[in-house]
Amino acid sequence: MIRINENYTKLQASYLFSEIARRVRAYQAENPGKNVVRLGIGDVTEPLPPACVGALHAAVDEMAARESFRGYGPEQGYDFLREAIAKNDYQSRGAAIEADEVFVSDGSKCDTANVQEIFADKLTIAIPDPVYPVYVDTNVMAGRTGKHSKGRYKGLAYLECTEANGFVPAPPPEPVDLIYLCFPNNPTGATATREQLAAWVDYARTNKALILFDAAYEAFIRDPSLPRSIYEIEGAREVAIEFRSFSKTAGFTGTRCAFTVVPKALHGYTKKGEAVPLHPLWTRRHTTKFNGVSYPIQRAAEAVYSDEGRAQATALTDFYLANAAVIRATLAELGYTVTGGDNSPYVWVNVGKDSWKFFDKLLKRAQVVVTPGAGFGRCGQGYIRISAFNSRENVEEGMRRIRKVLK
Ligand code: PLP
Repeated sequence: MIRINENYTKLQASYLFSEIARRVRAYQAENPGKNVVRLGIGDVTEPLPPACVGALHAAVDEMAARESFRGYGPEQGYDFLREAIAKNDYQSRGAAIEADEVFVSDGSKCDTANVQEIFADKLTIAIPDPVYPVYVDTNVMAGRTGKHSKGRYKGLAYLECTEANGFVPAPPPEPVDLIYLCFPNNPTGATATREQLAAWVDYARTNKALILFDAAYEAFIRDPSLPRSIYEIEGAREVAIEFRSFSKTAGFTGTRCAFTVVPKALHGYTKKGEAVPLHPLWTRRHTTKFNGVSYPIQRAAEAVYSDEGRAQATALTDFYLANAAVIRATLAELGYTVTGGDNSPYVWVNVGKDSWKFFDKLLKRAQVVVTPGAGFGRCGQGYIRISAFNSRENVEEGMRRIRKVLK
């Protein structure tokens, strides 16, 4: 008899985006003539930077010739990309990260989901609320939680992100082992200051805890005083793993390339309290279960660090940030309290009532799709997330409709 992993049965039946899709489909089936503007899902809309496309084409040509063809590459990524990342994303900002501490992968979703398997089954895990659902669900699958009840899984330490703390939680009074943080944040769009991150790094050092820092939206930071990497904080090399992605930085959501930084100074502990470096553990996990990102895609990612690539990628994030500014201004003008959208592509709006009811109202009356905050956790109730990933035309049309319905 083949037994299943019953932890899967604890998972909430409807994943947020499937529920949104279901409601939109039902609405469209009843109202076939109505055109719906989607400001919900966080997928990019603009094409790849030309520098990346050029590098991709050239690499495909290399694959077409016997002399330059490449088969399996190094699982952790080619040196040319790992070196470009270490130099440009870290060393140039004073963060001492070496190329062999960078693990190239096909996505931060997989990396943030997979990382938990190098840790013990029994851990106290701190997870922000609201949150990118992958962190929670993968720990549920791994059996680190109890059942779901009233919007929360038993056994997790939830870090409440509210207007009162500016959506940046402070370290809890009690010790926890594994801490998920994401800045600029999905869904709230909030960013963390150097001092706020330093408090977390201190906490982790004191408690022998580990921070999993998701910086998938780092490229949207424009305020020069904000840290782009947790490694800009002193001591973070000893207590943090960082995740980054080319998905939102350079439009790679359909192309797939990301990376995880595991510094050699990081340690976990055995039951007996002996310190064990995490770098060899992640190397073993990554090389055993992953066979590398394709060569042409890694060449395309490398091109993001060329002069033209950098300028083109910045133009992309500037474009989405300008969308975010239109969204922010519209909602603020209508009297709503808004967060995010200045150093992030998401605008988090306090709608003062049930998120799903507000979602339905905007869908049915304005034909605009947003993301109900409640889908990201209990503290998201009463909020909606509006995504700036769209054409300018769609954002403007969406805002016109919202203004009409909410004024
Ligand atoms: N982390 C956060 C916070 C995200 O919002 C997303 C995607 O929406 C990801 C990671 C996934 O990125 P990738 O496309 O690299 O898998």
